[in-house]
Amino acid sequence: MDHLKSSDPEVYASIQREVERQNDGIELIASENFVSRAVLEAMGTALTNKYAEGLPGKRYYGGCQFVDEVEDLARERARALFGCDWVNVQPHSGASANAAVYLTVLQPGDTFLGLNLAHGGHLTHGSPVNFSGILYNAEYYGVEADGPLAGRIDMERVRDRALELKPKMISIGASAYPRDFDYEAFRSIADEVGAILWMDMAHTAGLIAAGELNDPMRHAHIVTTTTHKTLRGPRGGMILVGDDFENPFGKVAPKSGRTKMMSELLDSAVFPGMQGGPLMHVIAAKAVAFGEALDESFKDYSIQTLQNASAMADAFMAKGYDLVSNGTDNHLMLIDLRNKGITGKDAEAALGMAEITVNKNMVPFDDKSPFVTSGIRVGTPAMTTRGLEEEDFVEVVELVDAVITSPNDEGVVAGVRERVRELCSRYPLYDFVVP
Ligand SMILES: *Cc1c(COP(=O)(O)O)cnc(C)c1O
Repeated sequence: MDHLKSSDPEVYASIQREVERQNDGIELIASENFVSRAVLEAMGTALTNKYAEGLPGKRYYGGCQFVDEVEDLARERARALFGCDWVNVQPHSGASANAAVYLTVLQPGDTFLGLNLAHGGHLTHGSPVNFSGILYNAEYYGVEADGPLAGRIDMERVRDRALELKPKMISIGASAYPRDFDYEAFRSIADEVGAILWMDMAHTAGLIAAGELNDPMRHAHIVTTTTHKTLRGPRGGMILVGDDFENPFGKVAPKSGRTKMMSELLDSAVFPGMQGGPLMHVIAAKAVAFGEALDESFKDYSIQTLQNASAMADAFMAKGYDLVSNGTDNHLMLIDLRNKGITGKDAEAALGMAEITVNKNMVPFDDKSPFVTSGIRVGTPAMTTRGLEEEDFVEVVELVDAVITSPNDEGVVAGVRERVRELCSRYPLYDFVVP
């Protein structure tokens, strides 16, 4: 980064400090990961200069022959990764991909049914401060408060809600749900009420691509994702269409004289519906990341991510931590800290002092505000990329527990910070920080 260093030392210095932070700390934010040098290099290229509105072979600008190659590689690899016929790799983010789904399937004021945000759902699934809650009538299903399905979705209740509300669309997907989804049951409910079934696999896409979680592509009409969480690519989004490639139930209104396939409607919802020019440097990085995910080593990585999460969950529970749903099927867990006498906010701050990064998170039926919260969310994708295995995650739990037990003891926090640095030095990340 010689040019940046000499031409803009201020920005350069901040970037270097951030890379050092990533190198030296324990990253437990479940939605984050560390991309490869190859992905970073693809993003930092002159492809950022190119306008390429439209799709490969059908652009509104000249000079697109090489970015067409790049986007075609990204599309082919994504299709191979998820076993589907159609994909759009242009959404700038998960939220943009989701916006294109709403624009395609719903009219303003239409009702859809999604997972309650306070039970692990995402802002774009109907939050009153998000376009999805402002423009559409968002209704919710949630997780059970107690009983054998405590912390889990009861499909009978989802069916009752769907029969009662007759939504035009049912969404699945979450930011803080530690269990897998029963896509078959969701699909049969959607069919019963004539709804489009949409799965937002933003968090779990990598684990699904690796074949380690249930496969939504066989059941959902539309699937969206981010590319930067367990999929370990650049920050971005993507839309896929499952086996129902055509226009299920004729529910998608034709916008011209001809009845269009859902895939065509989704393409035009992304551009010109939602976005202008696609980010071709990011699409190049997506292609690289998808290529990496097609490699056998990505399956090993995904399996390790799950084994680490399971070891971590067991270690927390052995120390008396209350995990929502008593464990995890995926890469994350949600810890209810109420029996530990600390809020999510204070736990996040104290762990931050020890260079362990987590995020505070509402737990289902939380009695505290989203700014305080009763819980934290932790996940294994990022540190698994660094090479940590089960016994290392047990050590991480010991470190987290030491801080949560004595959040105000500077000696304890400083001691943990030392051990964090030592652990990170055993698993180097990026080697391009110039001190
Ligand atoms: C992270 C996430 C998103 C949003 O992705 P952005 O790229 O941050 O817009 C959407 N849906 C779910 C379920 C997520 O977890």
